[in-house]
Amino acid sequence: MFDLNGKVVLLTGASGGIGKSIAKKMKKQGAKLILSGTRQNILESLSLELGDDTKTIVTDLSTKEGIATLAQEAEACFGQIDILINNAGITADNLFLRMKDEDWDNVININLSASMRLTRQIIKGMLKRKFGRIIFISSVVGYTGNPGQTNYSASKSALVGLTKSIALEVAARGITCNLIAPGFISTPMTDKLTDEQKNRIIVNIPVNRLGRVEDISSGCVFLSSNEASFITGTTLHINGGMSMI
Ligand code: NAP
Repeated sequence: MFDLNGKVVLLTGASGGIGKSIAKKMKKQGAKLILSGTRQNILESLSLELGDDTKTIVTDLSTKEGIATLAQEAEACFGQIDILINNAGITADNLFLRMKDEDWDNVININLSASMRLTRQIIKGMLKRKFGRIIFISSVVGYTGNPGQTNYSASKSALVGLTKSIALEVAARGITCNLIAPGFISTPMTDKLTDEQKNRIIVNIPVNRLGRVEDISSGCVFLSSNEASFITGTTLHINGGMSMI
């Protein structure tokens, strides 16, 4: 079940907490991996850990040139991309009245525009081969909003319209396009919270724990698989019941 043997995955944000777990789970299912991020040392050690059929590409997604180069180099690695996971993301939080243009622009640029540009490049090969899986990593706050995160919530919310529109355009060509919306996930960032802070979050999660990175990577494996070929334009909410949208 969920066999990804021979499938080629391009994963952005592979050096991050969730990205590493996605890479490991996709590899376990037999996929070939292209790992991208800006931190070369982390990508290389992950690649060493995962072994054969794993390539790394260091890219800055904040520039159009960086994205174009990533798309070109990634396709050259194994000759094609079957699965694209747009996972890279940033935050730059502030209350709305204090939100600087720069923080707005940077977050929209990485979380929304870079994902759109990379997908626009990679989807061409998928259309030719009549097969593809595109996954965007959104967030629960893209659906609920969050004080202090107007830029981040807006970027994650906009991915919903992007996903549904792409899904409609390519549905008849063997390509699915979906979102995963994680809730609060335990990562190095949330590990820094005190127990009291964590408990205040957990009290609002019916499953009574923070999410694990594996909860998100399992969703990626499923949406990438043949078993999910009739699922497109939708959001897989992985949030422990925190928000039943
Ligand atoms: P993370 O550990 O901070 O990782 C973020 C990743 O994005 C890193 O690999 C980083 O690469 C990459 N990235 C950032 N700016 C980049 C740039 N300019 N060019 C290329 N790559 C860039 O975050 P995470 O927790 O794993 O989150 C992964 C995704 O899940 C994000 O989209 C996030 O919004 C979403 N999400 C996370 C949570 C959560 O609780 N953690 C909840 C909801 C949604 P480098 O570090 O190499 O620069």
